[in-house]
Amino acid sequence: MKHDTRYLQQLDQAHGWHPFTQHSQWCAAGSEPLVLAEGEGALLRDTEGREYIDGNSSIWTNLHGHRHPRINAAIRAQLDRVAHTSFLGFTNPPAAQLAAELVALWPADTLTRCFLSDDGSTAIEVALKMAAQFWQHTGQPRRTKFVAFSGAYHGDTMGASSLGGIDLFHGRFAAWQFPAIHVQALADLKKLDASELAAVVIEPLIQGAAGMRLWPPGMLAELRAWCSSNDVFLIIDEVMTGFGRTGRMFACEHEEVVPDFIALAKGLSGGYLPLAATLTTERVFGAFLGGPERTLFYGHSYTGNQLGCAAALANLAIFREDRVLEHLAGKIARLTALLVPLKSHPSVSDIRQCGFIAGIDVRGATGAAVCVAARHHGLLTRPIRDTIVLMPPYCITDAQLAQCVRAIEQALYETTA
Ligand code: PMP
Repeated sequence: MKHDTRYLQQLDQAHGWHPFTQHSQWCAAGSEPLVLAEGEGALLRDTEGREYIDGNSSIWTNLHGHRHPRINAAIRAQLDRVAHTSFLGFTNPPAAQLAAELVALWPADTLTRCFLSDDGSTAIEVALKMAAQFWQHTGQPRRTKFVAFSGAYHGDTMGASSLGGIDLFHGRFAAWQFPAIHVQALADLKKLDASELAAVVIEPLIQGAAGMRLWPPGMLAELRAWCSSNDVFLIIDEVMTGFGRTGRMFACEHEEVVPDFIALAKGLSGGYLPLAATLTTERVFGAFLGGPERTLFYGHSYTGNQLGCAAALANLAIFREDRVLEHLAGKIARLTALLVPLKSHPSVSDIRQCGFIAGIDVRGATGAAVCVAARHHGLLTRPIRDTIVLMPPYCITDAQLAQCVRAIEQALYETTA
């Protein structure tokens, strides 16, 4: 399909408003926002027909590539049945099936209940409200406080944002957010009065928006042990890390941890549709049984969306049928090898890798300038301040992966020369 790129840019500049975007730059004279129109596998194509590797998997969502035949077919088949029906008081085939399949990814009798919602933020909101209500129902109303870590990012709705530990994003809303406790590390947590705590929330192994910051190995298991011995809930946010990103299906498997709540989104639908899930235990679920006052007071119009659930079922089937995790191990090793020479580049101060996620800290140029330059070498990604994020779809070929690293090298050369 032929598009009028300039016309689309002008429409957008006149009427659009983009997330985390300074529009004085977006709308500045000479600014020509990229208009992405097509995708195939790890590639995206703009309205001018230029191709780019989707270097951050479309903001960390895409897993098996764009226009995947089996996810496309699943959504088309679902469209011929129905797109959306209310989940308030009714169920539907793909949602019922998906809840069972998500629960089956965990050891028996651990996370047995699945609540569906829309995004990473709402998956976190659900966990917060479930935890808050749980302590009310179980005679411990003193347990009201939530603990999160400095540098944390759990979403932008007001509740999830209260847990955020990035001052630039979250500090300005302090007057309206609920007062969560922020700690730097486990040692600070251990100084708190645990009897007042409802839950601790963490991004396991790696903090994404903080700049791909790695936790020390063993930290998650130690946190799990502390939470268990103090009867404090552990909420694990696998919105970024879930569904293979770290090399295991879930990051917490690396430390044999099972949380009390897990928040899943982004890759859940293969990166196709907004869909999220909050899984929890039978202990939590049981505390909500009884009279009407024990109901979970939470829900959204699109909860259990049938198209999203059909996409998610196809996503999980691809993991099984294509042995995605087995093949990913080789790609993770390939990425590690490709990053070795970049480590000694004079404009690179540090590289961190966790599975199929890499954060490359640059110096001598801003992360934004490096990413704009990389575009001209066929790589699309978005920095976190001066950290270049590389986390492509799992279907990326070895040649494409090498092209990503070459594009970053060339962009560094051009921006820091
Ligand atoms: N948690 C984490 C760890 C995230 O990285 C994000 C988004 N980047 C969110 C929650 C929020 O997800 P969403 O943008 O889908 O609301």
